[in-house]
Amino acid sequence: MPILVRSSCSILMAAVFIAGASLLAHAQPTGTLPPPAGREWSGESGASGHPLMSAEAIRAAAANFRGCLEGLWPAAARRGVSRATFDAQIAALAPDLRIMDLLDSQPEFTKSFWDYLDVLVTDARIQKGRELLEKHRATFDAVERAYGVDRHVLAAIWGVETNYGAIAGDRPVLRSTATLACIGRRQNYFRDEFISALEIVHRRDIRADHLVGSWAGAFGQTQFMPSAFHRFAVDFDGDGLRDVVGSVADLMASTANKLKKGGWLAGQGWGYEVVVPATFNFKLADRASNQAIHEWERLGLQRVGGHPFPRPRDQAYLLVPAGVQGPGFLMLQNFRAIMKYNPAETYALAIGHLADRLRGGGPFVQDWPRYERALSRAERLELQQLLERRGYDVGEPDGQLGGKTRAAIRDFQAKLGRVPDGFASASILDQLRGR
Ligand code: CA
Repeated sequence: MPILVRSSCSILMAAVFIAGASLLAHAQPTGTLPPPAGREWSGESGASGHPLMSAEAIRAAAANFRGCLEGLWPAAARRGVSRATFDAQIAALAPDLRIMDLLDSQPEFTKSFWDYLDVLVTDARIQKGRELLEKHRATFDAVERAYGVDRHVLAAIWGVETNYGAIAGDRPVLRSTATLACIGRRQNYFRDEFISALEIVHRRDIRADHLVGSWAGAFGQTQFMPSAFHRFAVDFDGDGLRDVVGSVADLMASTANKLKKGGWLAGQGWGYEVVVPATFNFKLADRASNQAIHEWERLGLQRVGGHPFPRPRDQAYLLVPAGVQGPGFLMLQNFRAIMKYNPAETYALAIGHLADRLRGGGPFVQDWPRYERALSRAERLELQQLLERRGYDVGEPDGQLGGKTRAAIRDFQAKLGRVPDGFASASILDQLRGR
């Protein structure tokens, strides 16, 4: 999968794990070391090696910034932005070149699934979420009635994305999206984001000085990209403005609308924690392998705590983030809807789990293999190269562990007589090194 800028960007994750790389979608959750201090551009070429990310190309594009913005006028006009708004908003814009460093930052260190969950689902966050659900009870009642989306999931998105607004970013969205629309390797994508941001200001839904957020242009307490705002934002409190920054009603209804349009099924949950037997064929633990829950039961999966599945005909896929040593999860359609909101399984699982905790549920029953550590980027690359040397097709080694790498690990594990679950552990790397 190519690296896409996430449709929704968790500022919180950026703040906790620092750097913009966590704002990019990866097959695996990624964190990274802090970027160099300060808000200035490093002046260096980007790590992606993309021709538009060389220092020379960035300087040249920055020199032509005004000409580039002017070239976006026809597209803005087609979206109904007035010339007066356009001129007023671009007049004082200067590119924020620091964003070029963030766009290309490569995460060296990664956190494990359970480390992310520990950070995102805390007692403090559960407490705060329950307070907000109580405080805005009437709003959540109305939003739930109108959209059929579970209030606990909405509150959990609020909590995971920005810690209920405590960390929502301070970069002007117009400036960030204008920079990315005119400089660097994602210009096509960001032109629409910039035009959408202009449209928001032109329609006076949100004042330009309130439109601040992440370096990638996500804003508001559930982190809308401008184009997502364009598609999903609604005025729920009836004042004529779609103010996802200043109105909790607009914020929660717009978030619910996005989930509903993403395929949310009213009255259903996101998934179940399940026990996976060691003899299970882990090849089936794949987002593409959707089947009815009773089929999964036939293969030996059981819901934790001995509870029956309420609707055995629902379709689900199996996620086993830590292999045989950790819990499994059967993911329903609503998990896919959450992933449309935020396309990393770690975030989506954190949102589902925080929602359950807000509702009064308990922690996951099964233990995570906390003795396992996440491999660094260099180690993941080495793992792929060592598998390649043994004749496995892992695609182009890129440090991202996709389906081919997992399949190779499973085969290697089987040869060692271990459970072939495809989990990239440090001990597998050691075995591949011949130790
Ligand atoms: Ca409103």
